[in-house]
Amino acid sequence: MSKYDVIVLGSGPGGYVTAIRASQLGLKTAVVEKESLGGVCLNWGCIPTKALLKSAEVFNYLKHAEDYGLTVKEADKDFDAVVNRSRGVANGMSKGVQFLMKKNKIDVINGFGKVKAGKKVEVKDEEGNTKDYQADHIVIATGARSRELPNLPQDGEKVIGYREAMSLKKQPKKMIVVGSGAIGVEFAHFYNAMGTEVTIVEYLPNLVPLEDTDVSKEFEKSFKKAGIKVMTNASVESVDTSGDTVKAKVKTKKGEETIEADVVLSAVGIKTNIENIGLEDLGIKTDKDKIIVNEWYQTNVPGYYAIGDVTPGAALAHVASAEGILCVEKIKGMHVEALDYGNIPGCTYASPEIASVGMTEKQAKEAGYELKIGKFPFSASGKASASGKKEGFVKVIYDAKYGEWLGCHMIGAGVTDMIAEAVLGRKLETTGHEVLKAVHPHPTMSEAVMEATAAAYDEVIHL
Ligand SMILES: Cc1cc2nc3c(=O)[nH]c(=O)nc-3n(C[C@H](O)[C@H](O)[C@H](O)COP(=O)(O)OP(=O)(O)OC[C@H]3O[C@@H](n4cnc5c(N)ncnc54)[C@H](O)[C@@H]3O)c2cc1C
Repeated sequence: MSKYDVIVLGSGPGGYVTAIRASQLGLKTAVVEKESLGGVCLNWGCIPTKALLKSAEVFNYLKHAEDYGLTVKEADKDFDAVVNRSRGVANGMSKGVQFLMKKNKIDVINGFGKVKAGKKVEVKDEEGNTKDYQADHIVIATGARSRELPNLPQDGEKVIGYREAMSLKKQPKKMIVVGSGAIGVEFAHFYNAMGTEVTIVEYLPNLVPLEDTDVSKEFEKSFKKAGIKVMTNASVESVDTSGDTVKAKVKTKKGEETIEADVVLSAVGIKTNIENIGLEDLGIKTDKDKIIVNEWYQTNVPGYYAIGDVTPGAALAHVASAEGILCVEKIKGMHVEALDYGNIPGCTYASPEIASVGMTEKQAKEAGYELKIGKFPFSASGKASASGKKEGFVKVIYDAKYGEWLGCHMIGAGVTDMIAEAVLGRKLETTGHEVLKAVHPHPTMSEAVMEATAAAYDEVIHL
């Protein structure tokens, strides 16, 4: 039986990063994967969606070329080619992980893995043959899939999840998106930009409900302006797929409404891949669909660990990777600090983009802080004007007493590339005064962080 120091089950951004770090630390490592290397993130999540969204952005530029003094005779799209480009990008990224596995001398074992007693992993290959592998440490990183609601069963054709949504053969004329988290609004924006008539249904009062309320409201305004029908405080009660189209019964505060579409995308969250992987046989504890771990990602059974989407916490690729790195560094006996889950950035790549870290205004108030809040609109930014992208703002939240940077919330073009400043600032425990005095380059969108901070301290220049 092959023996390893570390076997990782699943090769998503949690699993493959864990494996690389383990190998860097001199641990003999293998990764077990039942599909393509790279997990949801590279194959069916972060990367292919961003490729689709880039096509949407370019298409929007072409449609509005005259705004930039340019003439495009007839901007048109080839939906098939857009989808194929996205699949090509995903395949390329997966091959990149293959290269990294080789480079780091990590064994890739293809097949469905199951943890067993005695620190073993049983792998069943495509032909149904099984083989056992042994390791001192087994890291479960099997990720998650689209969650199905009982009243919204997915048939993969008329009621679909995110995998189908990024690989449809034919562009739907009308689409209903259920759920307005990051995944829902990214697809709503993409299909709307491609010319599909989109309705988005959100159960809570605001779109992107986890964001600061100011951001949610601004986002809703932009979505409506772009022609997306927004239904908040609304829920899809049932769907009828018996005809050529799909009819969704939507309950709103005003009563019930039936909406017809070609396709309903269910984007209501995720369901972890924890079934049939041996957890029950070993007595590994789970709660509310997640594997329970301590701050070093150890399960209740020694030698077995879990990281990424299968554990509690934000289901994000960068969280999965950070957890995996910490998990193996601790295994190796390094002195490491536990992850600060209060300083994880969240990004949404629709148009406008959203990026945030730390507390919302409501959370900071509820925590009892006295606040200094500053907001700088991109309508007052030179770079935003030059780019023709004046929507949105940066909002910063500081503790009035010590100047601690409690939260940063951004909405606008390219803000997902700007949020790392706030993450780093908060990690280094910077104060509002220091952010204000850190010279930001001109003209950039990032000046808005400095100006918003200046606004918080009544020193704003360009407002
Ligand atoms: C549409 C979409 C867009 C997203 N966009 C973003 C984004 O922009 N930014 C971001 O941070 N996050 C994004 N996410 C979330 C991100 O993809 C996940 O948080 C991330 O992939 C989780 O990584 P993971 O390693 O825990 O699991 P996964 O990426 O799910 O990987 C798990 C792997 O384990 C394999 N596996 C499962 N069970 C077994 C088994 N028994 N044996 C062998 N292999 C197994 C699976 O095949 C898979 O390859 C997005 C998700 C979706 C769906």
